[in-house]
Amino acid sequence: MDELNDELDRPREACGIFGIYAAGRDVARLTFFGLYALQHRGQESAGIATCDGKSAYIHKEMGLVSQVFNEDNLNPLKGHLAIGHNRYSTTGSSHVRNVQPYLIDTIYGPLGVAHNGNLTNALELRYRLLERGVGLSSTTDSEVLTQALASPPEVWGNNRRLDDTGDRWQARIRALMQVAEGAYSLTILTRSAVYAVRDPYGLRPLCLGELDGGYVAASESSALQTIGARYLREVEPGEIVRLDAEGVSSAMGHAPRRRSLCSFEYVYFARPDSLMEGQVIHEVRQRFGRQLACEAPAEADIVVPVPDSSTPAAIGYSLESGLPFTEGLIKNRYIGRTFIQPDDDLRKVGIQLKFNPLPSNLAGKRVILIDDSIVRGNTAGPLVQLIRAGGATEVHVRVSSPPVRHPCFMGVDMATRKQLIAHQMNVQDICAAIGADSLAYLSLEGMMACIEQTPELESAVETDGGHCNACFSGSYPIPIPGWLFEEDRDKKLFEATWGD
Ligand code: 5GP
Ligand code: SF4
Ligand code: MG
Repeated sequence: MDELNDELDRPREACGIFGIYAAGRDVARLTFFGLYALQHRGQESAGIATCDGKSAYIHKEMGLVSQVFNEDNLNPLKGHLAIGHNRYSTTGSSHVRNVQPYLIDTIYGPLGVAHNGNLTNALELRYRLLERGVGLSSTTDSEVLTQALASPPEVWGNNRRLDDTGDRWQARIRALMQVAEGAYSLTILTRSAVYAVRDPYGLRPLCLGELDGGYVAASESSALQTIGARYLREVEPGEIVRLDAEGVSSAMGHAPRRRSLCSFEYVYFARPDSLMEGQVIHEVRQRFGRQLACEAPAEADIVVPVPDSSTPAAIGYSLESGLPFTEGLIKNRYIGRTFIQPDDDLRKVGIQLKFNPLPSNLAGKRVILIDDSIVRGNTAGPLVQLIRAGGATEVHVRVSSPPVRHPCFMGVDMATRKQLIAHQMNVQDICAAIGADSLAYLSLEGMMACIEQTPELESAVETDGGHCNACFSGSYPIPIPGWLFEEDRDKKLFEATWGD
């Protein structure tokens, strides 16, 4: 049952980032609640850095937002500028050394960086920094970004005067954007402004909001809503947005490339109440379910979601098929990430640490079980057994995304190729492995059609509308160096120096 422990204890989320400039507001507290709303994106560590225009303050630790912060450590975080971060490690192991935000002193004063994403040329950039005598104290590409920003643009061989506005940070961000490859959404803290930056592909989400007294940037719009901010718009691919005393100003840091927002945000990562590209995630997931019902019907009595992430797709499947949506599994809402390992007896209890079946709804029923994704394939089998134990006579698994066959190098630590069940087996064999009566996935074309009913994208002239779906299709929006496909190379990239 090691897999189970792995599944229970292994978050694979992307990170959550937040940034705020708000005079007269308790920005540390607002950032705390923003991070709280983004907890689903990373459960390994949390941190907040603030600045009062002169000095900077920081608190960061391993753990959930609610475990990391209390009145005692929040109150000293003074100022009217703040950034925050929820982390799940995509580069660098789970270690306190790697907790974000990074905060350093520079020639222009404090510099804090919160990063969601993954650089594909971090090793090269890291080497260039080391070569220039910059010492690094952690193993993340995010520290590389931070130190790169602290270095003058000439470090990158860019002697051209990049900026006429006198915004030296913007010049540095822009210089970095010319050399950084891969996925990055950033919030950056300086003495007088917070910057929100998105890579030229727009791989990871980032949006802007307005609140009484200031402006906010966050990975997802639901975090804006949580703190009473009004959604303004997304940060555009390649854009540098500056939040300061004057309000919001914008500059292009790099020409946008083919738009490639992660389609897994729609499948699983993002909160259902978040807005991306002008559409509510819940609605897109419902469309997935409707499409799945058209593509893969089944003779059955009820449609049961794997809560909570599959509920919208199950609603869609139910609406389209006319079969009743029925709860069959109850999830412990507080399971989240725990640092307590189950003992051997608890491990045998298995998936029930997380879910219990509802026999009164399942007994004698032919069940269509909807899950949003099968990644490693550790969860689906035990869930099928659980539904049967609840009295179901048949279990037909329907997955509201295509088979995940390829690893992600753009900021989501899904798994290596070897660990992905759909890389190893075909659908028929997976069906047998999980013990279902039938198994079907949503087609790639079907999923993309549901996602690309995007009102905003249709009118986007400057970017050829599109999304990353590399983990499903194997077609990566950015060049991936071949050696990154080697097992574990991406995550442990820098570990040679530090050990574990
Ligand atoms: P697996 O097939 O790896 O055992 O797990 C698939 C299940 O994990 C699905 O129910 C899906 O909702 C969930 N899942 C998909 N992606 C992620 C992720 O990145 N992090 C976590 N914690 N769960 C995920
Ligand atoms: Fe998202 Fe998959 Fe692309 Fe990674 S490979 S960015 S998870 S769509
Ligand atoms: Mg799930």
